[in-house]
Amino acid sequence: MTQLFPCRLCGTLTLAQSWGGGECPACESVSMPLLPRMEELAEFYARYNDTYSGGGVSEGRNLQRYAQRYLRLVRHYCNTGSLIDVGSSNNPFPNIAAGHGFHTTMLDFEKPRCLADGIDYVKGSLNDQLPAALIVKQFDVVTCWAVMEHVPDTQAAAARLAALVKRGGYLFMSTPEAGTALTRYSAGRSPWFYPPEHLTLISPQAFKRVFQPLGFESVTWGRLELSSLRFAARYGVGLAEACAGALLKRMAPAAWLRLRIERKQRFQGVAYFVFRKLT
Ligand SMILES: [Zn+2]
Repeated sequence: MTQLFPCRLCGTLTLAQSWGGGECPACESVSMPLLPRMEELAEFYARYNDTYSGGGVSEGRNLQRYAQRYLRLVRHYCNTGSLIDVGSSNNPFPNIAAGHGFHTTMLDFEKPRCLADGIDYVKGSLNDQLPAALIVKQFDVVTCWAVMEHVPDTQAAAARLAALVKRGGYLFMSTPEAGTALTRYSAGRSPWFYPPEHLTLISPQAFKRVFQPLGFESVTWGRLELSSLRFAARYGVGLAEACAGALLKRMAPAAWLRLRIERKQRFQGVAYFVFRKLT
């Protein structure tokens, strides 16, 4: 039985697949016809900080390196002022931003174990209305790393993020890469989609479609990695998948379509987005 559902990013009718989601034919985002219940999500995230980063030494070190990489991106556009990091979990980014002179706040459902002194912690999440402490506050920089793929209601979460940004301020996000030249031809679906953790994979065009009506201009987007070697390894896999997939799609479209549904391809890109608030 075929089931169509409206894409959660743009509303275009999308075919639900056996793996639990569907790829929008218009904006190329991946979303779900049926979201997990809020109680299921609450239960999942109650244990999240204990498992995020895996607790291993190399994972911990990479979290530090990614946080440094995020800071480099932010400082390319803005060097000082107030900053709020949303949904940090155990990410050391708020500590690193505070260490580089940003007046830092963090918003998350749980206070992380090692939050540096001087950082304002506010309890909350993008799944709920903004807490009272933030309703009248706006920030020069709002960062939201690897969060948007987790939220069940992208539009509501985006509106909450938008409300936190000062006019002229910047919004930075990272999320799994989807709906790009490196993902659309591969003979397999994205391994990044795994509910109840990753519910929506948002394409660059869908991000623009969501944030432009909220008064933002898209400054840039790109692909994130820690070093050129890691970049070549990660995106080399994407390029190989894309080339092999494009060839198969041309030679044997039915086989390509079957693999697109049944196989998980190996590319896991990370995209970043920079928006500036105009109004
Ligand atoms: Zn769509």
